[in-house]
Amino acid sequence: MALNSDQVGRLLKMIQQTQEVELTCPECLDELDKYTQSIQDGMPIDGVLIRVREHLEACPCCTGQYNLVLETLKAIEEQ
Ligand SMILES: [Zn+2]
Repeated sequence: MALNSDQVGRLLKMIQQTQEVELTCPECLDELDKYTQSIQDGMPIDGVLIRVREHLEACPCCTGQYNLVLETLKAIEEQ
């Protein structure tokens, strides 16, 4: 079964939209410092950090990293 150009166009658009909304794991980890800092400071979560939070909710791997960062920060504060 071959896709016609209409279907291909729609498919590409769908893929582009998905990429706009969802972060990849490396992108999420890149922003994790900023996200953790904002949470710690009680700052509002906006822009890319909203996408970080959404990614964390969907990705156990990055959630593990996030918990590690939190634990590390806590350990530093307790010293
Ligand atoms: Zn991830």
